[in-house]
Amino acid sequence: MFTTLKSAGMQSVHLFADQRSGLEALVAIHSTRLGPALGGCRYQPYASFDQALQDALRLAQGMSHKAALAGLPFGGGKAVILRAPHIDNRASLFEAFGRCIESLRGGYITSVDSGTGSADMDCVAQQTRYVTATSQAGDPSPLTAMGVLEGIRAAAAERLGSASLNGVRVALQGLGSVGYALAEMLVAEGAEVMAGDIDEGRVQLAVEELGIRALAAAAVSEAPCDIFAPCALGGVLDATVIDNLRCAVVAGAANNQLQHAADAERLLARGILYAPDYVINAGGLLHVALGWQGRSASEIAAQVMQIGPRLTDLFVESRAEARTPLAIAERRAAALLAD
Ligand code: NAD
Repeated sequence: MFTTLKSAGMQSVHLFADQRSGLEALVAIHSTRLGPALGGCRYQPYASFDQALQDALRLAQGMSHKAALAGLPFGGGKAVILRAPHIDNRASLFEAFGRCIESLRGGYITSVDSGTGSADMDCVAQQTRYVTATSQAGDPSPLTAMGVLEGIRAAAAERLGSASLNGVRVALQGLGSVGYALAEMLVAEGAEVMAGDIDEGRVQLAVEELGIRALAAAAVSEAPCDIFAPCALGGVLDATVIDNLRCAVVAGAANNQLQHAADAERLLARGILYAPDYVINAGGLLHVALGWQGRSASEIAAQVMQIGPRLTDLFVESRAEARTPLAIAERRAAALLAD
């Protein structure tokens, strides 16, 4: 266990069990170097404890990097509640989880992730103030979309020679909370938006409401366009997909877009500019983190607008060094997190 923690550069891991509610949970804290560790709580079944631990460690480290590059005074952490086949009372499970978070005295602030929602965070909030993304805090998706739009502008300026999105062809994968809001913003900028989603109702709605062009969900990544914006699942970019891309830029909201870190090199080799996912999609994190600090909506929006200049900076350094924007982002995060 200690070898695993050391090799992941992890600060601490906390295990919790609550007899009454049946809670079994772990909290991984990657770093509190810049501030309290912030990160979501997953609630899902795992084949083994080891798998749950690995998931938490990987995600906690990702959160440290994301917060550091977003300029936030927060570190990275992640919680996992092991989902039992049957649970009597979901509210009491999350209240018990809230007591566990409270026992960490502010070292970790929890939030939503796969399998949890704002109603669960409301239960956590009955036991601790170290929780974000409650129903009172509001949906982070519009600010995530706004940050992605700023990132797309920066990428367009770098690769297409102008930050104007008028007439720029954007292929959007996924029209969920973020994708739909982004489509709306892109259309307002005069972009030529085409999109696909496995939920055909979402596509139909966007065609009718926004006038976008419909694509088959499986065809989005191969559509000829200027910008491919993955806003659905993670892991969409592997060697085969990258070979078949017909775009100049990949810039979207989805988390963990690359199957492997080496895929960033593949994109560079094909001359495709990649906006690192955890930099471009930090708007949601800014919303929950700064909202938790009690900052005003206009202050938060101003921070989200910085995502564009931050990416421009990465792109310039990446071009100067002929390295991937991801490599530059990783180097910057490591420097910010170094003791
Ligand atoms: P969502 O669940 O609301 O939307 C996802 C959409 O993708 C759904 O409409 C779904 O039908 C569609 N989809 C699923 N598989 C698909 C496929 N193979 N092809 C095309 N469409 C497919 O999720 P969201 O909140 O909009 O988030 C989208 C992505 O952005 C996720 O990867 C999420 O982790 C990431 N993200 C979201 C936020 C946020 O604030 N919501 C913040 C940061 C990152």
